[in-house]
Amino acid sequence: MLRWIDVIKFAKYSNPEPYRRLEKTDKEWKLKLTPEQYKVARQKETEPPYRNAYCRSYEPGLYACVGCGSHLFNSTEKYHAISGWPSFTQPVTKGAVKYAFDDSFKMSRIEVLCNVCDCHLGHVFPDGPEPGGLRYCINSECLIRLDE
Ligand SMILES: [Zn+2]
Repeated sequence: MLRWIDVIKFAKYSNPEPYRRLEKTDKEWKLKLTPEQYKVARQKETEPPYRNAYCRSYEPGLYACVGCGSHLFNSTEKYHAISGWPSFTQPVTKGAVKYAFDDSFKMSRIEVLCNVCDCHLGHVFPDGPEPGGLRYCINSECLIRLDE
């Protein structure tokens, strides 16, 4: 189980190894993604709170990356964080996502990205439920739920 200290170490020193890599040019991303997906996943914008697909959805299944289809989160780790965005306590595997310090908007945050294709997913915060204490606050636009 990942804790905040692990997230800090990943962002500061070295991210977990991805199990594969996928790289595309900006032009290819524009063709693959919808304009809304592109804005969030590639330009790091944030979708509106509450008015997004998975904020209030608790159907069972895996959540995959919109860019590459890699499994990122499991519905079993999804919880109601009252933030307006889908929130998870852990990624599906340690190596599924990677982390980067993000000082934009005069905030000190840790960005969460897909470890395979570098799509921006959202941010992680140390105010999640025990035992891990993590809250992965993720944009619905970056996720596709795969029904079990
Ligand atoms: Zn991806």
